[in-house]
Amino acid sequence: MNDVKLALLGSPGAGKSAVLVRFLTRRFIGEYASNANSLYHKRLSVDGRQLNLEVFDPCSQPMDWADGFLVVYNISDRASFSNAKTLLRQIREAQKSSPGVPVCLVGNKQDLCHARQVPADEGRCLAQENRCLFQEVSAAESYQDISILFTQLIRQVLEQLKQR
Ligand code: GDP
Ligand code: MG
Repeated sequence: MNDVKLALLGSPGAGKSAVLVRFLTRRFIGEYASNANSLYHKRLSVDGRQLNLEVFDPCSQPMDWADGFLVVYNISDRASFSNAKTLLRQIREAQKSSPGVPVCLVGNKQDLCHARQVPADEGRCLAQENRCLFQEVSAAESYQDISILFTQLIRQVLEQLKQR
């Protein structure tokens, strides 16, 4: 069985825990313990392969702990997008000797589009510059997109682990 370790990074309040809990339980609760540095476990199968998923939220581990990263910002908070840019750069710098760690940039709170401060295209461009996945989601309103992004990221991680 494969172990897959993912790290959740992003500004406080961006919705990291909401995105993760939505994926793990299909539910949106509304309020989440803050800065608890929790490690979540789940067994799941992707493309018929059983795996042990571990997710650190928010990730306080050294960068090399993770096999893949989710960098979350809030589309209605430009400061959280700036922070995501910084985090993507830090991930790249930390990985210089072993490039290509899978990353997904996640624009959360898509339901707040009336208060949008970050156009979807800007998110997409930033992801392209960093050669990473990109997905806008709403942890509050939908499971589908979140499930797709975790699956894509896990697929990339499994590919990488195979090559090691
Ligand atoms: P974290 O600090 O990044 O883990 O953020 P949380 O997951 O604790 O979420 C911060 C706040 O944003 C909470 O009040 C959540 O209910 C809210 N929130 C999270 N995701 C969404 C979303 O998709 N839409 C809306 N409207 N609110 C959200
Ligand atoms: Mg949290």
